[in-house]
Amino acid sequence: MLPEIEKLLVLQDRDQRIRTLKTELKNAPIERKDLEVRLAATAAGAEKAKANLRELEVEKKRLEVEAQAKRDQINRFKAQQMQTRKNEEFQALGNEINHFEKEISKIEDRELEVMELIEKAKPVLADAERAVAEAKSRVAAQITDLEAKIATLGETLNTIESERAALTEGIDEDILDQYNRLFVSKGGNAVVALEHEVCTGCHMKLTTQTLVRVRGGQQITHCEQCGRILYWTM
Ligand SMILES: [Zn+2]
Repeated sequence: MLPEIEKLLVLQDRDQRIRTLKTELKNAPIERKDLEVRLAATAAGAEKAKANLRELEVEKKRLEVEAQAKRDQINRFKAQQMQTRKNEEFQALGNEINHFEKEISKIEDRELEVMELIEKAKPVLADAERAVAEAKSRVAAQITDLEAKIATLGETLNTIESERAALTEGIDEDILDQYNRLFVSKGGNAVVALEHEVCTGCHMKLTTQTLVRVRGGQQITHCEQCGRILYWTM
């Protein structure tokens, strides 16, 4: 194998690792965002349960106040009945009292319904709050892991990048230039093996002339289909 091919293969291995590390580093904030979004959704569920319970409690209070106001009014009507001497007025007040008593009875029915709803809403809220607490500690742990992973990835990337310059020494500048361009344009595979007369980069069959040149191992040879640099391992 051409010594330059050997060097390019080492360089390509490092470049592929750099590429993978950079992708992972780029995706890390997205992963973090995902975790935060899921946590926010759980928290929103708990907020909804809390708001529901609060609304029911407000309604219960309002019904209590309303019923009490009607009871007070009935007492005032009763006091007026005691004072009146007119039969008609006594009768009219009695009708009012009946009317208010029916309304109180309706309010009390609704109060019972609301109290039942409150009893059902309490465990729903407790479950939702427990889910939030669990999600918070789980996400906190996952974020800690993710941050540790980012730090490690960053260190590894720095190490490989600092070693890379030394690996390009002794490679002809034109070839290095071709390699760099191919690495970018061919998805991180600039130097590929020749296998069963096929380029493993584009999977096209190579011409006899190219096969002979690659197997000869005397010069840098490109695939005539995709332009990648070819090497022969046998
Ligand atoms: Zn090819």
